This record gives sequence, C-alpha cells and structure tokens, in this order.
Amino acid sequence: MTSPRVEIDLGKIEENARCLVRRLGVRGISVTGVTKAVCGHADVAMAMLDGGVVGLADSRVSNVSRMRAAGIACPISMIRAPMVHEMNDVIGSCDASYNTEMETILKLGSAARDQGAVHDAILMVETGDMRDGIMPEDLIDFASGVVATPGVTLRGIAANFACMGNVAPTPGDMAMLSRLADQVERACGPCVALVSGGGSANLAWALGDGATGRINNLRLGEAILMGIDPVSGRPIDGLHTDAFALFAEVIEARPKPGPMPMRPRAPKCGKLELVSNNGQGNRAVLAIGQQDTEASSLCLPPGFGFIGATSDHTVVDTAKSTVPVGSEMKMGLSYSALMRAMSAPDVEKGVLEKQSLNAMAKDRETHPVLRIA
Ligand SMILES: *Cc1c(COP(=O)(O)O)cnc(C)c1O
Repeated sequence: MTSPRVEIDLGKIEENARCLVRRLGVRGISVTGVTKAVCGHADVAMAMLDGGVVGLADSRVSNVSRMRAAGIACPISMIRAPMVHEMNDVIGSCDASYNTEMETILKLGSAARDQGAVHDAILMVETGDMRDGIMPEDLIDFASGVVATPGVTLRGIAANFACMGNVAPTPGDMAMLSRLADQVERACGPCVALVSGGGSANLAWALGDGATGRINNLRLGEAILMGIDPVSGRPIDGLHTDAFALFAEVIEARPKPGPMPMRPRAPKCGKLELVSNNGQGNRAVLAIGQQDTEASSLCLPPGFGFIGATSDHTVVDTAKSTVPVGSEMKMGLSYSALMRAMSAPDVEKGVLEKQSLNAMAKDRETHPVLRIA
C-alpha cells in the first residue's frame, strides 16, 4: 500500500459497536450506525452490522448508493433532508429519511408512489442545536400532514444535539422529546415507533441512571468509529480509540532555525499560529495537506509537534528525533480529520481484517471490560 493512506481496523470497529449495542440494549435503546464520516465505506458498515447495529444512516445519498452497490441490504436512513433532485434515489435506496419540510414530504410521497414504494418519514425536532428541525409547537400539525400524505408513512421523531452547537442534552430535553412522542400519538394514533434521541453527544445521558422515557434509538458515528465522547472529547470506557491510523511519507527532514519567519500577508485573513521555538529544531515535511485531511488535528507521535500545513504539505517538529526521508509517519485522527481523509481521492483506504478478533474475544472472557486509556 502507498501513502498517504488510512488503515482501518475492522475488528476494533466491530468491538466498539458491539460494546455500545450491549450497553444501550439494557437501557432499551437500539443503535443505528452512522457511516457519513467514512463516506459509506462498505467494510466499515459491515463491521458495524457485525457488531449488532439495527441499521445504518448516512447524510449523503451517494454514500448510501455505495453501500447498496456493495450488497448491504439492511435498513438505511438518510439523516439529511433529501434535496429536490435526489428524491428518486432516496426512495430507491433508503428505507427512511429524516425530514423537516412539508414540501419535501409531498415530493417524497409522489416519488414513492411513482416507484410503487412506501417511504418512512422520521421528523427531526428542533431541540436547541439550531441546525435542522421542526419547532416543537409545530410538530403535531406537521405530523398530521405526514399521516395524510400517500406514499409516506410516519415512523418516528428524532432530535439532534451538539451537532452545530456544542451543547449536550439535558434530562429535561429528553423528557420533552418523550412528551412530544406521546402528544403526536394522541393526535395521530400509534405512529411513533422510533424515538431517536440523537448522536454520540447523547451517550452520557443514555448510559446514565435517569429514565430513558420513550427514547429507543441513538444514531452513533463518532462513538463507534473513534471511541470518543464528542462533548467531553474523552475516550469512552471500554472502547478502542485507534481503529483508524493515517500514514504519510516524509519528503524532507532537516533542522531549521526558529522562530519561523512569518509575516502577516493580509492581517485580516485569519490568525497566524506563531510557533515559539528555542533555536534549531528538527523538522519533517510530510506529503499530506489540508486537501487530504484536517492537518492541525492529527495526533502525532509522542514528543512531536504540529508546526503548520498548506494544501499539500504538513510540517512537524520532530524534537530530538530525525526521521528518514522516504519513511512513513503514523498518526491518529480526529473525527473531522477522518472525515476529510476518507473523502480525499488521494488518500488510499486500506482495511486490516479481523484477524485479532478471536484472540480479543478470549481476552474478554478473562477481562470483562477492555479499558483503553
Ligand atoms: C452526524 C449525525 C449523527 C451522528 O453523529 P455522531 O456525533 O457522529 O454520533 C446523527 N444524526 C445526524 C442527523 C447526523 O447528522
């Protein structure tokens, strides 16, 4: 394999999924695996399914098509409201979609009838993240409209937390979602089978001691893939945080004097990150850049520091070490660095098969909880 590349340990993803499915299962909450950060990579999706998720969700129909083409037949939901030009593809490849506009529901209904299909609608409710969502006071009227639309079946309601804002949900927010589910059913009959409480930002609530009410599903991407709680930024007990690794080649290695000679070219165009540096430092230049990933959020080898990145180069302070030209540097990824790398055409994606899984399962019998620092 060449670099730059992302190496994916499918066994770790499956283990993470299984661990979350088990822990949420005892709280009456199912897990939908969110594949948008890996661009609908079919092997990753399969690893999630092997770990027991009840279905998959993605925000782009192109990613869903990729999974369908690879033979994945499980229920898949569109978690971004469909655009006008993609109604037919959404009906053809997704079992359900998350929606916030009646015009979209009507178009989905008509596309579904054309294809002789029935499409499930899940209504996204605004609960304070201020991204997409129907205002709670409008939900009942909206739900009645959906129930009256041929070709579309109302299947549930959902909320989003800490997607755009970074505000974690409170027990009060979750209680409100449960109450809304009851109110919709009082008005429209028993049509709220699914109450999807949010994404990874909601895990702390879901795994806590409080009542889960009517919430019976979470849509998890970051927790399964990265093993990280997005609100605290901390590892989740028992999960792998290194299922993905990024490799980039060193194309220059030499000491360079500091501080870096940076002059603000256009003072208003953003803050400069001036690097304080006591004299000479070893530097490595990597053949990877902002076009391939979010370079500033890569997790470098211990002792190394990020100096800066341009579209195609990333400069690393390698402290006392010299790294040979032509060698590869292995780095960890943040969720957004992963998302960019997986969608970058020049970054190769390689999977490590689940060779270690039996060994890990044996290990688990003797050590019930795997703790990864
Ligand atoms: C991205 C996304 C998720 C998953 O969020 P994670 O933080 O990755 O778990 C869930 N729902 C919607 C609507 C999303 O856009």
